[in-house]
Amino acid sequence: MAASGQAATLTADGRGRVLADGTVMPLLGLGVWQVPDGPACVQAVRAALELGYRHIDTAQAYGNEASVGRALRESGVARDEVFITTKFHPGRRDPLREAAYSIERLGVDYVDLYLVHWPGSGATWAWPGMEAAVARSYARAIGVSNFDAGELDRVIAGATVAPVVDQVQFNPSVYRRALLDACAERGVALEAYSPLGTGAQLGDPVVAGIADRVGRTPAQVLLRWCVQRAIPVVGKSTHRDRIAENAQVFDFELSDHDMGGLDALDRSGGTGTALERKWW
Ligand code: NAP
Repeated sequence: MAASGQAATLTADGRGRVLADGTVMPLLGLGVWQVPDGPACVQAVRAALELGYRHIDTAQAYGNEASVGRALRESGVARDEVFITTKFHPGRRDPLREAAYSIERLGVDYVDLYLVHWPGSGATWAWPGMEAAVARSYARAIGVSNFDAGELDRVIAGATVAPVVDQVQFNPSVYRRALLDACAERGVALEAYSPLGTGAQLGDPVVAGIADRVGRTPAQVLLRWCVQRAIPVVGKSTHRDRIAENAQVFDFELSDHDMGGLDALDRSGGTGTALERKWW
């Protein structure tokens, strides 16, 4: 089921989203924000890869790219089977140079997706450097994160290589319907981060009630709410059992009634903005 305006193309197995440039992004990924560099990160990413995840979301700001790379090598999974996202830290100056550092830390030849982490001091200044990262083959695809529709438009207006993803905070309590529609109209895939509300959504009684009724866990219900709309989603856990649990979201479906019940948890008013409180 696609959201209104979201003309999404999926791979035949229903687990990958075909982006506007033809890149295939696995719908479900593991995020590693707030996972310290070192054994905790290596173990989480290794567990995910062993359990079948093929999409890892890191960032220069997270400080753990080296551990993501180490886990990839230790897992024995081939580089070209894993979709790796990293993000340019807009507090730095040069997206091309920072991409080179990222792939060095990761120990890979390229990342699959390179995002401007937030608009910072302006939506467009980093974009030529992001395009240079594609030209240099450091990144296969490029996009943005925490960008409103207007900021996306400014990037697109001056772009030679268009952004294919806008990664934003997205879960039933912040159902950014207007931004989802704006992304679809622009051929940009909205990608959901903090799908569990950084844990806060897991205790919601409506989520718990649906989970009980369908015989699933609250985390599975929240992740399913995204993938059922063909929205790529990155959830975070450092526990192997939870990482395994969170992967089981392709073998059940939520009814329209339950999807509607979750939609009704929105407290954003279907906002078109990417964030209520900006940190830059
Ligand atoms: P989240 O995925 O919404 O929630 C993670 C929290 O839920 C953790 O406390 C985790 O605890 C817990 N959890 C996970 N699975 C669980 C389960 N099955 N049962 C019970 N608890 C569970 O958190 P998030 O880190 O905010 O967002 C996910 C990813 O999105 C990040 O890691 C990052 O990659 C990305 N992100 C991007 C941005 C951006 O600006 N672009 C911002 C925020 C996040 P344990 O780890 O202890 O299991």
